[in-house]
Amino acid sequence: MIVVMKAGVTDEDVQRVVERVTELGLAPHPSKGEFRTIVGAIGERTPEAQQQLEQLPGVDEVMAISQPYKLASREFHEADTILDIKGIRVGGPHVNIIAGPCAIESREILFGVGQAVKDAGASILRGGAFKPRSSPYSFSGMGKEGLELLQEAGVALDMPTITEVVDPRDVPIVYKYADIFQIGACNMQNYNLLLEVGKTDKPVFIKRGLAASITELLMSAEYVLSQGNHRVILCERGIRTFSDEVRFTLDVSAVPVIQERSHLPVFVDPSHAAGKRDLVPALALAGIAAGAQGAIIEVHSCPERALCDGPQAVLPQNFAKLMEQIRQIAEIVGHRVTIWGREDAQPRRAVAGGWTT
Ligand code: PEP
Ligand code: MN
Repeated sequence: MIVVMKAGVTDEDVQRVVERVTELGLAPHPSKGEFRTIVGAIGERTPEAQQQLEQLPGVDEVMAISQPYKLASREFHEADTILDIKGIRVGGPHVNIIAGPCAIESREILFGVGQAVKDAGASILRGGAFKPRSSPYSFSGMGKEGLELLQEAGVALDMPTITEVVDPRDVPIVYKYADIFQIGACNMQNYNLLLEVGKTDKPVFIKRGLAASITELLMSAEYVLSQGNHRVILCERGIRTFSDEVRFTLDVSAVPVIQERSHLPVFVDPSHAAGKRDLVPALALAGIAAGAQGAIIEVHSCPERALCDGPQAVLPQNFAKLMEQIRQIAEIVGHRVTIWGREDAQPRRAVAGGWTT
């Protein structure tokens, strides 16, 4: 349920609602918006509880949240969520580009590619240490050694880092070395993993499963949010369709659809959707034009020797060109690109449901 408070309500009125919600065995989530204060009451809704809350001073109305996801829904939290990740703002009008190799393979490649993507304007460094592969015989990542290199590179380049966690037992070690947990498409519905990262305070980047609906993606976010971790980013990375020209079909429309339903930041992954480096720029730009608040892009200095996803890795010089185009497209849709904490272009004024021109 959502308890909508009247305009000009006092802190005591809100506190009284929070206390009553707790007494009713529900979890209270007060949120002060620009125009109204609401208190989310998460748990089973009963007519009695609804009536009791409606009668408290300062309460305007009590509504049911119509979606199965509650904390992730726009009904629950009207304004865009903007995360602060080591001083970098993610979400709202801010566009961040995450870039780096698919897998951490060596110090030389990670540091070389990291420096190149930073110079081109990426704000977050990616690199997988635990790689979920479709074949058990493929390279599955450097593990702890890779995490150590990623942390070192993040410090040296002054960039927050993101890496995939595939096993709930690895959550503590990934927490120790990286700044953002990546939940891969294959693990989007690994509920134990989602619960485990939900118990931490580090951001969680959830990729849409290759056959998952938008509601299912939002339910995965709900798993993390339900544990108290409200730092969630969603990513459209391509879904399985009958088209076999590309690895997956980037569902560009998922971007505005998720943004309509949820307050969480939405990214696109053009690399895993395309599967071919020449198609990556077009998909990245399409995602940013659709309003995505960022993209995660695989870059490699020597893709023909890459141990994972070489065919879709863009070369550093082409990544730099793409960044230029991303900046221009972002500006057209009223977003601004974060470049190592610095921001290009002025955002347009936020209004309910979008941005002004
Ligand atoms: C990755 O980011 O390298 C990856 C494995 O992506 P996905 O989970 O989308 O397949
Ligand atoms: Mn990859």
